[in-house]
Amino acid sequence: MILSKSNFFLMADTNLKGLTLAGLEQFIVSIGEPKYRAAQIYQWLYKYRVTSFDGMTNLSVALRQKLSETAYIEQFSVATSQTSKADGTVKFLYELSDGKKIETVLIPPRVTAVDAEERMTLCVSTQIGCALDCTFCATASMGFIRNLTTGEILNQFLTAQTFSEKPITNIVFMGMGEPMLNYDNVMSAIDIITDQNGIGLSSRRITLSTAGYANHIRKMADEDRKIKLALSLHSLRDDVRTALMPLTKKFKVEDLLAALEYYNKKTKKSVMLEYIVFEGVNDTDQDVQLLIKAARRLDCRVNLIPFHSIDITNPKGYSAHLHGASKEGLEQIWKKLRANDVITFIRHSAGVDIDAACGQLAVKNELEILN
Ligand code: SF4
Repeated sequence: MILSKSNFFLMADTNLKGLTLAGLEQFIVSIGEPKYRAAQIYQWLYKYRVTSFDGMTNLSVALRQKLSETAYIEQFSVATSQTSKADGTVKFLYELSDGKKIETVLIPPRVTAVDAEERMTLCVSTQIGCALDCTFCATASMGFIRNLTTGEILNQFLTAQTFSEKPITNIVFMGMGEPMLNYDNVMSAIDIITDQNGIGLSSRRITLSTAGYANHIRKMADEDRKIKLALSLHSLRDDVRTALMPLTKKFKVEDLLAALEYYNKKTKKSVMLEYIVFEGVNDTDQDVQLLIKAARRLDCRVNLIPFHSIDITNPKGYSAHLHGASKEGLEQIWKKLRANDVITFIRHSAGVDIDAACGQLAVKNELEILN
């Protein structure tokens, strides 16, 4: 007999969700089973995505029983979700086993996109809260709470997939938190996501965005990671960028550009420069000229991003004075960059009628708990 869920939570203490093949091998040997069983369990967890040991039908009943007594498969529950009437974007607020909440966003393509039929993008979080204090970000107002485990990163995908009518084809690490500050867990999750015996997505469909850890950009290049890299740039001027992103005190703009050049050279891969355009802050002619100059140094494309208001966080000081550029303002910069042969796109805003900015749903939940 396989133990019921309530029993195995009492008795089992190893969460298998999030273990790599090597981790599963270690576990399976530790319970006195042959190592090859780990590969079978690995496939059940990630390729076939079963949620209980009962579903692992090529394992003997005795082994399933033993697994139930020694391990469990962590699941997420959805605390709440919001669906955009405008474009079908879905924001999930997941509740984790310690009661903390994180946000994940499922983003359908625009109907006009060339690959509208097949694309479905998931924006995942890597930390609960964030320590970096970017002045334009709702998540920053939560402060840093903790890193997500590899299993929690994977569960964002696995749970969202059960709600999505179409297969999720792309993952962007642009949700709550700074991925480079949870490097090992994020990379383990990516290894499982891109493994053909695991979740099986192409590494070309994974994008990791950093606020600017030049050292980790170089590390990714040295490790020859096959995923795409994006830098949240937002200004080429150290003083302006420091006001927007205090991390700039540690890694100056020149450090970042040099790290990206290194990345280009070492991996032969292009990078993305993300640029939220703030009216009167980073949209002057000087800013645009600096952006053109930086883009010419690199193999890159530039994404111009509309700003989502973070009024919900009751922003003060510098944050309170940030306003997104108008549509016309964005288009003007887009034209100038294009005229200078910089590959540039204006990123559309997903879910504008729901709490669209990163972290807003989680922050709103925290505020509701506090009030
Ligand atoms: S923008 Fe990203 S790195 Fe900056 S505070 Fe928000 S979550 Fe952290």
